[in-house]
Amino acid sequence: MMELKGKRVLVVGLGKSGLAAALFLRRQGAQVTVSDVRSAESLAKEIPALLEEGIMVEAGGHGLLTFRKQDLIVVSPGVPLETPELAQVRAFGIPVIGELELAARYLKGRILAITGSNGKTTTTTLVGEMLKESGVVAQVGGNIGVPVVELIDTSREDGWSVLEVSSFQLETTAEFHPVIAAILNITPDHLDRHGNLENYALAKERIFAAQGADDAVVLNADNARTEQAAARSRSRVFWFSMEHDVEQGAWVENGWVMYRGGCDAEAEKIVPLAKIPLKGEHNVENVLAAVSVARQAGAAAEAVGRAIEKFQAVEHRLEFVATVNGVDYYNDSKATNVDATEKAVAAFQSGVHLILGGKDKGSPYTVLNDLLRERVRAVYTIGAAAEKIESELRGVVTIYSCMTLEHAVNAAAAAARPGEVVLLAPACSSYDQFENYEQRGRNFKELVKALLT
Ligand code: ADP
Repeated sequence: MMELKGKRVLVVGLGKSGLAAALFLRRQGAQVTVSDVRSAESLAKEIPALLEEGIMVEAGGHGLLTFRKQDLIVVSPGVPLETPELAQVRAFGIPVIGELELAARYLKGRILAITGSNGKTTTTTLVGEMLKESGVVAQVGGNIGVPVVELIDTSREDGWSVLEVSSFQLETTAEFHPVIAAILNITPDHLDRHGNLENYALAKERIFAAQGADDAVVLNADNARTEQAAARSRSRVFWFSMEHDVEQGAWVENGWVMYRGGCDAEAEKIVPLAKIPLKGEHNVENVLAAVSVARQAGAAAEAVGRAIEKFQAVEHRLEFVATVNGVDYYNDSKATNVDATEKAVAAFQSGVHLILGGKDKGSPYTVLNDLLRERVRAVYTIGAAAEKIESELRGVVTIYSCMTLEHAVNAAAAAARPGEVVLLAPACSSYDQFENYEQRGRNFKELVKALLT
């Protein structure tokens, strides 16, 4: 473990995890400075609390000297690593790590980490439930909303820290070592930041970089890019597949979720597909991944099955909102990339009224074409990406240009017939019109509830 007492540490980026990291470092006796490009006014809430703790604050940009005087730099996941300041300090040999790496060095017990383009939160939450149902000591955190440093005090030698980790967090790891790692899928996302799919995939593969032969990695056998990752891992590979039986891992057979813990082990029947309360095949994939992870971590097969049967969709993930005039409304505001939208639409047979748009992330919408023709009655566009979406999808499906979510919900409500579905699965991030996807999802739910009155 790194001695922090008296060390000069700079925290770059004052988001949720940056703030938590700064407070943790200070409690360890480090001399902490935080630096953020946002103005002092926009950080008015955080600054007094930091100063009170004896943490120095630099707002409105970074001075080059601020970076040079440090023993350690902790960068937040939102900060691009190619900034001139960070490139320089790396050249000087000052270590640059993220909050995940920092926290993991102090966590007691074992770490289990889950990454992927989509399904992380759902799978991580489900694994936490499976372990708890089985009486295995576990706590859940990471990208899911609880900074990993906040898990340190409650971590136990005999327990697991179940972490959702993003590609951004993995970019700044060094020795991060989960005993069990999972990559759910790798599909185009965040290309605006990672540049191309290859870099993005390599960032995700860092999840198993520190693993050895005794560790386990859980990979998606049906996703080409994750399948290739196996060749670069030194760990024991557990597969999950919707399409075929696997040597060790989880799969679907005769309407059941199955698991086998090793080549010589018996196949276990975990739960019938009909008892999975979540919509969509993608959620069966998440269940398969969670089963492989949780069984590896010591949860009993029966408990794993029970946890699945009790599990409800996480808010904003293909969450059922209400039925109004015979039309079902679903909130999948977390569908912030095209792949998630594809999965959401595929969860319904036909008659979908799909709300698309927001801040574009650089991947083509045309991959949706076949599904749009087969299952979608109309698309309602909102936000900054509307024009791009309309030009790519023109001629494929009926498109209504709605600008705002409110107009989109009202237009869809007017057009939808009983038995059909209105689905918010916008394939874009929300930052053009909303604080975040949660606010967009809550706004959608309020608009739907207003239709009831
Ligand atoms: P993440 O934490 O990786 O963003 P979530 O569980 O929050 O994952 O789900 C994000 C979005 O992706 C939601 O819209 C959800 O419906 C969709 N989704 C969930 N699991 C998968 C999957 N395995 N493959 C594709 N899309 C998925």
